[in-house]
Amino acid sequence: MQPVLGYTTRHIEHTTTFWRAALTIVYLNGEYLPLAEARVPVEDRGFLFGDGIYEVVRLYGIQPFRLQAHVQRFAHSADGIRLPLLHAAEELPGIIDRLTVENDLRDTEVYVQYTRGHAHPRTHAFPPEVRPTLLVMPLEMHVPPATAYEQGMPAITLPDLRWRRCDIKSTMLVPNLMAKQQAREQGAWEAIMVRDGLVTEGSSTNIFAVIGGRVVTHPTNCSILGGISREVALGLAAELGLVVLEQAFTVEQMLNAQEVFLTSTTQEVLPLTQIDGRPVAQGRPGPVTLRLREAFRNLVLAKS
Ligand code: PLP
Repeated sequence: MQPVLGYTTRHIEHTTTFWRAALTIVYLNGEYLPLAEARVPVEDRGFLFGDGIYEVVRLYGIQPFRLQAHVQRFAHSADGIRLPLLHAAEELPGIIDRLTVENDLRDTEVYVQYTRGHAHPRTHAFPPEVRPTLLVMPLEMHVPPATAYEQGMPAITLPDLRWRRCDIKSTMLVPNLMAKQQAREQGAWEAIMVRDGLVTEGSSTNIFAVIGGRVVTHPTNCSILGGISREVALGLAAELGLVVLEQAFTVEQMLNAQEVFLTSTTQEVLPLTQIDGRPVAQGRPGPVTLRLREAFRNLVLAKS
């Protein structure tokens, strides 16, 4: 399919960090070992069923950003799929610290995955004895190019085909992947998902609109992932004296909004200036988005 919105793979985000996989040290079930040597049995339920949860934590400098919020969301996700936490949540900060030192990480991301472990034979119901798999590894971070923030990016709307527990950060991401792929094939940066006429969130981001001067985003419930950056952006908006409203809005309201932007760990606050081929307002990043972007940058630069 030809890109139709003017965004092409030429603009694909650049990579800020590079390392050789063979030299990367990862954590797997109590061991620190080279990525190339890390092995999970093929009967792992994460592999067979997507029966697991994950987190992506960003490091500014060597400091994990909002780690406590990530740990809390991790625990919420585990509880949501009835996966015993054992000591995983309390061990995470120490594991991330050690990986940061071992790999000399800075300004990148760390991926955490926790599955119901491997069991034989393959059965849908939970195995009687669960020995979860915990993997923590450095992630090559792909941030959007500077022009994406200066000019804004195009998005498309798509039906939200996901299950009804989007508050759980499950590794079962096929509907999100399909949506992102469709966006990319149509020359768009993000797919904005719509359920019952209401905007829920992006395929890997939360979506905000400025409507009547207010900063509006879907409330946290089972229809969206409670994004860490969403929470930060809401706090910053309030600090800037903006009126914030956690309320779902329609596609129509979004298409007629003064501004639309997304938030995520990797992208922070990024303006969306075209939706389904139509410009948002003047088709340029708006003042609220730019102020929030700057406030977000200032906050994280102060942390690194
Ligand atoms: N919504 C979905 C579906 C996501 O996958 C993500 C991040 O991966 C987000 C929102 C943004 O969450 P965060 O700000 O914690 O990165």
